[in-house]
Amino acid sequence: MLPRVPVQPRSLEQYQGIADPEVLAEIRSLAKGLRGARVLHINSTAHGGGVAEMLYTLVPLMEGVGLRAEWRLMEGDQDFFTITKLFHNSLQGMEIPITHEMKVKYLSVCEENASRFDQEYDFVVVHDPQPCAIIAALEGTPFRKGKWIWRCHIDSTYARDDAWEFLKAYINRYDGAVFTMDKYIKSPLEVAALAFIPPSIDPLSAKNIIPEKRVQSDIARRYGVDETRPIMLQVSRFDPWKDPLGLVDCFRAVKAAHRDVQLVYLASMADDDPEGWHYYEKTYEYSAGDPDVFLLSNQQGIGNVEVSAFQAMATVVIQKSLREGFGLTVAEAMWKRKPVVAGRVGGILLQVDDGMNGFLVDRIEEAAEKVCLLLESPATAQRMGDAGHEKVRRNFLCTRHLRDYLRFFHMLLD
Ligand code: UDP
Repeated sequence: MLPRVPVQPRSLEQYQGIADPEVLAEIRSLAKGLRGARVLHINSTAHGGGVAEMLYTLVPLMEGVGLRAEWRLMEGDQDFFTITKLFHNSLQGMEIPITHEMKVKYLSVCEENASRFDQEYDFVVVHDPQPCAIIAALEGTPFRKGKWIWRCHIDSTYARDDAWEFLKAYINRYDGAVFTMDKYIKSPLEVAALAFIPPSIDPLSAKNIIPEKRVQSDIARRYGVDETRPIMLQVSRFDPWKDPLGLVDCFRAVKAAHRDVQLVYLASMADDDPEGWHYYEKTYEYSAGDPDVFLLSNQQGIGNVEVSAFQAMATVVIQKSLREGFGLTVAEAMWKRKPVVAGRVGGILLQVDDGMNGFLVDRIEEAAEKVCLLLESPATAQRMGDAGHEKVRRNFLCTRHLRDYLRFFHMLLD
């Protein structure tokens, strides 16, 4: 079988007093009919990026409510992940030819992963394009029994036809598919069941618990950031869709008006994202020489506690994305009562209500203008931050997410 990511079951009771009681009650009721069901989640990395972040919570919670949930990783070499990142970029609208050789390599790695299956499940949830075609190689075997669900986490609104059509042939083999928004379905699918489910954050994870002030100060000091001066923060992989160079331009425009502002960019290098180093270097060169730009990554010890501390210390959180499936980082910042200035794209539109809990922007100058407004008006920043926290509590906690999965499992059985 594929390698398993070890996780401990987590009790739903811990979310009492945080999540809405109706959601918790519905989870308990839905879980009764699914007790003992074997659930497998497959994705391509245990570190970096939003999918891994969510599985560390959802899988233990599924276990906690009585399902037998597992998380396993598909395996591939560097060439495979380079190809799947090209698929990803093409699905997000970049003009990239999908060649015959790319398809052959992709399918051969999926087949190899399929050949390692030796267990049957009631539900198999396959995340994102990397493992999508595994299902094809299991057709006609006992391992294809059960309900297979493909979960898309990317913003495929502007998907290029060749990547979308290639993948669609595999998506159509699934029993169900889950997208964050309906507009991500580029052309009609033939799956029997569809659901639109936004992602979520875990209010109890180390990422979302705010460290004590003393710990925050220690962390700022460790990385040379002056916590007494304003901090603009972006937390993202180094990826073209997160617009790291546009972010630096935006920072420069803000700095022209606020000499004391600092830019902190926290990135994690995901195992399945070979572009990270390339974009890190580009961003480093672009911002080189500015002592107020801090590009920090997991390589320098940036983990969950550090991310949470910087989110808590930030004056404004920015998410300058050009495409964004959802943007967990937006919800994480809102949960910490921070106003967010974010690109008017993808799943960010589900989260930021323009002018209420943050600002949606289309251009660099506009982003800079909104950051300046928030730096100059702490009362506005506070009001927006408070509104953002409540928006996340109602809509984007892992409990709501778990409920939506359980509802979908029932729908598939019906
Ligand atoms: N993240 C992190 N450390 C970092 C940078 C990112 O833990 O240095 C996390 C971030 O907090 C978020 C996830 O990685 O939970 C990124 O998810 P998102 O949906 O924002 O973007 P994706 O990487 O999936 O495109």
